[in-house]
Formats: sequence, structure tokens, C-alpha cells
Amino acid sequence: MSIVIVGAGLAGATAATELREQGYEGPVVLLGAEDHPPYERPPLSKAYLLGDDPFDKALVHPAEWYAEHDVDLRLGVTATGLDTDAHVLTTSAGEVTYEKLLLATGAEPRVLPLAEETDVPVAYLRTVEDSDRLRDAFGSGKRIVVVGGGWIGLEVAAAARSAGSDVTVFEMDDLPLQRVLGPTVAQVFADLHREHGVDLRLGAEVTPADLAGADLVVAGIGVRPRVDLAHDGGLDVDDGVLVDSRLRTSVPSVYAVGDVANHAHPRLGRRIRVEHWDTAIKQGKVAAHNLAGGDEEYEAMPYFFTDQYDLGMEYVGHASAEDEVVVHGSLEDREFRAFWLRDGDVVAAMHANDWDAGDAIKAAVESGELPEEQS
Ligand code: FAD
Ligand code: NAP
Repeated sequence: MSIVIVGAGLAGATAATELREQGYEGPVVLLGAEDHPPYERPPLSKAYLLGDDPFDKALVHPAEWYAEHDVDLRLGVTATGLDTDAHVLTTSAGEVTYEKLLLATGAEPRVLPLAEETDVPVAYLRTVEDSDRLRDAFGSGKRIVVVGGGWIGLEVAAAARSAGSDVTVFEMDDLPLQRVLGPTVAQVFADLHREHGVDLRLGAEVTPADLAGADLVVAGIGVRPRVDLAHDGGLDVDDGVLVDSRLRTSVPSVYAVGDVANHAHPRLGRRIRVEHWDTAIKQGKVAAHNLAGGDEEYEAMPYFFTDQYDLGMEYVGHASAEDEVVVHGSLEDREFRAFWLRDGDVVAAMHANDWDAGDAIKAAVESGELPEEQS
């Protein structure tokens, strides 16, 4: 049975790896539009962007791993059409037939409408080439305008400040990351950036006049799932490719994982599409199992992390900005644990700079119980 994976990012590469690690011996084809072997994106806005780590460190495997494990990695190949009745993909390098197909096409940056109205170059951050472009533009005396106070915006702002650039961040909401973290914890990130010299403009929509004198605009205003292929194949799509609890699309021989997958989460009892590293890995593993004939539900809770200046954090669960938050530790010192409660149950938890807290925050979300504050 031939298994074809479209998208040689983290989710697709993890699925290919897991197929081999589970002992699956049939053909595995991994198609990737980019020219690089699969790599992880978190370093692109952190250690790689800062110039601290080489690109090789971001690779999922050394380039030779794929041939050594009989994974047919085809780079620089884009799948453009899908016929799910005939089990055929059209690609930039000819037709590819499959028995089972995995869509791991990820997401792409939303385009900043303002880009049409300014002469200042506008950049995005998704690929290693994007990261190189930003690093080249940063430096002492360089004026960088960041649009969007989400993960990309804040991590890029931190890297640009660390490189000595003048940085202004525009965020339309009252606080950065407010939608994800709620006002109490979002305030910590606003204070962090202001203390590091970022000109944080909140509740403000950027205009062409704001860009006067800027060297580069970096837009981090969210992503859209890459669903063109799924549309072409007639799969059900609604903010991503709709998959059931087992990561199966509306066509039984086709699965989807990672940023592109809108998943019916069995424990949350609703659909979520998660745009994070850990989900790409864990869904890739479960999909591999099911592609090879297994019958596993994907039920892991979302998990993510960030590093900005000297603040590192980990978050697990799924809360909304309206949920009540209880903080143990010190927000001012940026060393704390935060627990989000809904109807008395812990639905999400995070820690900041408290690296012993990982197990405790996971346990709180698993059990739903708020732990005692440690002295
Ligand atoms: P992607 O990484 O988008 O990979 C999809 C791949 O498929 C791409 O290489 C694309 O070129 C290819 N492709 C798409 N369509 C086709 C096609 N038709 N044919 C062939 N190939 C195709 N998450 C965290 O949890 N923590 C972090 O700190 C963090 N930092 C991040 C920093 C940056 C700069 C970025 C961009 C993301 C970050 N993320 C982070 C998010 C995380 O990287 C994503 O959730 C993850 O990359 C999703 O993996 P994926 O394989 O689903 O999709
Ligand atoms: P994001 O986290 O969705 O944040 C986008 C931000 O831009 C939000 O704050 C949003 O505000 C704001 N925004 C939207 N439109 C805007 C506009 N026109 N002008 C100004 N602000 C606007 O997306 P992202 O930061 O672009 O990141 C892209 C992807 O990479 C995401 O999938 C993200 O999860 C991933 N990533 C993750 C990490 C991490 O986990 N540490 C790091 C980097 C990247 P509203 O919320 O009010 O809409």
C-alpha cells in the first residue's frame, strides 16, 4: 500500500518517521514545495533569527535520513490537484498515485492590506528564507515596524530589539496576546516589551503615515490554512480541512494533520484547529498509526511555548480570554504559574520562568483541579 504525504513540514515529516518507526514497510512518498528537507519553524523567530543556532539544528532529520529509511522525499514539488476517486495527485513534477493520502499542507501568512499603500518593504515570517531576510534587516539604527501583537509579532520584536533595532509594534487589541491569555497575563507581555524598549502601540491600527522612516515592516497578523488542494479534491473544508476524532477527512482514504487540520476534539467536545509545534508532532504520529490500519483517536490537549528576551513560558490546555485566571507566584517578577478556570474546572495552565512546573500544569489540566499554591 502506498502512502503519500503532501507537505514536508513538521507534521508530514513526523508522520513519515512514525510510519517507519512502527515498522510499516510499504512505499512512503513525502512531497514538499520547499527546497529544504523538513525543518522546525520555532527557531526561525528565536535562536536562528538571533544568529545563535545554525539552520541544521532546526532540521527534523539530517538530509540523508530519508533515503536511509526508504522515505521518498521529493523536494521542490507542489501538489496542485487531487482526484480522490482515482486516488491521483497532480503535482508540478507529474502525477502521483496513492492508496492512502495525508494532507499536511500547513498554513501561510495573512497578507497585510496596507502593503499596497506603502513603499516600505513588507515582510512575513514562515520560511527559513523569510527569517534570513529579517536577520539581514535588523541591526543598530534600523527602524522595524511590526504589525500584529501575536506570537510572531512579539518574538520578532524581541529578536529585533536584541539586534539593536528600534522597534514599534502595532496591535489593534488593548493588549498583545489578549485573545489567547486574557488581560492579566497579557499585561505581563506588554510590560516585558516596553521594559525592553519596544514602542508598543495598543488599540491602534497602523496607517501608511506610521511607516514614515521605517526600514522594514514585519506583518504577523495570523495565518490561513492551506486548503486549496483539499478544496480541489472536494473534501469538507471550513477554517481548515475538517477531520474527525481520528484525523480522517470526509473522504476515508485521506487524513489531515497539523496547522491545516480542523479536528473534532473528543475531550473538548468541539472542533479546534491548533497552530502549534506540539500538535504537528503528535497528530503526525496518530495519523501514521491510522494510515497504517490503526484506529486511534487524537485527544491530546494543546501545548505551546514561547521565548522572548529572558521570559520562557509553557502553556497547556484551551482557555478563552473570558475565563477566570488564578495566579500563583509573581507577575511582576515574571515567575509564576497561571490557571484558567471555567465553571470551577482548570481548562488551561501555564508557567513563566518556572521550569519545574511542567508536570504540575499538565496535571492540573488533566484533573481539572486547581492545585494549592506552593510556598
Ligand atoms: P507547516 O510547518 O506550514 O508545513 C507545511 C509544509 O507543506 C510547508 O513546507 C509547505 O511548503 C508544504 N506545502 C504546502 N502545500 C503544499 C503542496 N500543495 N504541495 C507540496 N508541499 C506543500 N509553535 C509553537 O508551538 N511554538 C513556537 O515557538 C512556534 N514558533 C513558530 C515560529 C514561526 C516563525 C512560525 C512560522 C511558526 C511557529 N510555531 C510555533 C508554529 C509551528 O511552527 C506550526 O504549528 C507548525 O509548523 C505546523 O506544522 P505543519 O507541518 O502543520 O505545517
Ligand atoms: P497570531 O498568533 O494569530 O497573531 C496575530 C495577531 O495579529 C493577533 O494579535 C491579531 O489580533 C493581530 N492582527 C490581526 N490582524 C491585524 C491587523 N490588520 N493589524 C494589526 N494586528 C492584527 O498569528 P501570528 O503571530 O502571525 O503567528 C502565525 C502563526 O505562527 C500562528 O499559527 C502562531 O501560532 C504561530 N507561531 C507560534 C509561536 C509560538 O507558539 N510561540 C511563535 C510564532 C509563531 P486579534 O487577536 O485581535 O485578532
